[in-house]
Amino acid sequence: MPNTPKKRNRPWVKNLKQHERVIDMSWFYNDTRWRKFSKSYKLRHPLCVRCEERGELTPTQVTDHKVRYLDSGPGFNLDDLKDEYFEPLCNKDHNSKSGKEAHGYKRGMG
Ligand SMILES: [Zn+2]
Repeated sequence: MPNTPKKRNRPWVKNLKQHERVIDMSWFYNDTRWRKFSKSYKLRHPLCVRCEERGELTPTQVTDHKVRYLDSGPGFNLDDLKDEYFEPLCNKDHNSKSGKEAHGYKRGMG
């Protein structure tokens, strides 16, 4: 068995301050409550909604917030995680959504 180093030097981690340019969301995504929720959410919603609209069947890869953290929307309270705050997406649609949001794209409700 080769000896693998247990600790990796990650100098950028300590340089990352909350609410400064990049928002560190690891407190949320590393939390057991989120991980459990996300896992079961994907089981309840196994297909990407965007692909389904196009008639394609793609497995869900991302539990995506409908409202971003910057908009201080719901879905970031670890004690109040509900299906209605999220939508199931595949990686491709998740990426293209992020791009659209950056350009001010907003999905109509309903
Ligand atoms: Zn998709």
